[in-house]
Amino acid sequence: MEPPAPQAPAMEGEIVSRRIDVHQHLVPPPYREALAAAGITDVGGRALPDWSPQAALDQMSDAAISSAVLSVSAPGTTLLDDPSAAARLARTLNEYGAELTRDHPGRFGHFATLPLPDVDAAVVEARHALDDLGADGVVLLANSRGRYLGSEGHDRLFAALDERRAVVFVHPAELPGPQVEGIPPFAADFLLDTSRAAYLLVRNQIVSRYPNIRFILSHAGGFVPYAAHRMAVGMAGDTGRTPREILDDFRSFYFDTALSAGPASLLAVLNFARPDHVLYGSDWPFAPSSAVTYFNAGLAEYTANTPFGPTVAAAVDHRNAEQLFPRFTGTAAPARTGAAATTRGAIKDRLARGVFKLMNPS
Ligand SMILES: [Zn+2]
Repeated sequence: MEPPAPQAPAMEGEIVSRRIDVHQHLVPPPYREALAAAGITDVGGRALPDWSPQAALDQMSDAAISSAVLSVSAPGTTLLDDPSAAARLARTLNEYGAELTRDHPGRFGHFATLPLPDVDAAVVEARHALDDLGADGVVLLANSRGRYLGSEGHDRLFAALDERRAVVFVHPAELPGPQVEGIPPFAADFLLDTSRAAYLLVRNQIVSRYPNIRFILSHAGGFVPYAAHRMAVGMAGDTGRTPREILDDFRSFYFDTALSAGPASLLAVLNFARPDHVLYGSDWPFAPSSAVTYFNAGLAEYTANTPFGPTVAAAVDHRNAEQLFPRFTGTAAPARTGAAATTRGAIKDRLARGVFKLMNPS
């Protein structure tokens, strides 16, 4: 394992008091209405969850999350056939996110939705969201109506994002092509979708030509950390670049821990990623609170039994994200309200770690 970047040791208790969630979703009412109008009741194989700003704050309090950069999940505006309707919906969602951020300074940030696959409209919206609305970055789906991020034709958008040193949160969508019966897309397909986008972003030299963009890959990067050497060898034969150059490009990605804080995934991502490129993610509310608790316990268990564990935990929980989103630096998580809630919370955390250990006997 690569040694973590030198930094001051974490203070006792720091892990639970400061946590920046880069993978948390919002479901604004106009988005819920648009999904309903299109007859969409589930996303990635899961029913559309309830969401409200207060429910998000309550969940953050429960999971010791101090700040969250919110994004609209798949399908985003790709649910609309009409490009101008998609652009209008993106604008509505981004104004909603900006207002929510203004109303809860330090707690919420937001990644703007862009109306891909219409690249010109996406450039217009990226400029508006980043320059005028103060968005913390943009969320881009790994594929938008079958068109993959990193495939030809996105240069105008990447140039605009590079010029602004934008953070680009890459989120999976349903794979082009029919679903396989019995496999909910979020459970397996989403990982391939992210891996495909990451592959093309490296293969078509997007990450090397636009080095100021900070790309975050969802869910520990899909298969990237586990399969990067295999991908590099394949790509070297295809492009004439060296595997070392290709691996350097793959290592330029940031990776979030959403739904991925099990020992095998963490081992892969912490070994592969740069130490300052792993970020905490929850995927709430599409991941239910129980799943967030389970994976938080997994992260705590793993780091407790890892060399430099407190330093790694502090880096993943907040220090690395503070480099990308400095305005959240120093924000403390809201305390659980009252002594009874604090005790209940502590018992729940301990039980969750017990359950996690039972599921992962050493
Ligand atoms: Zn998600």
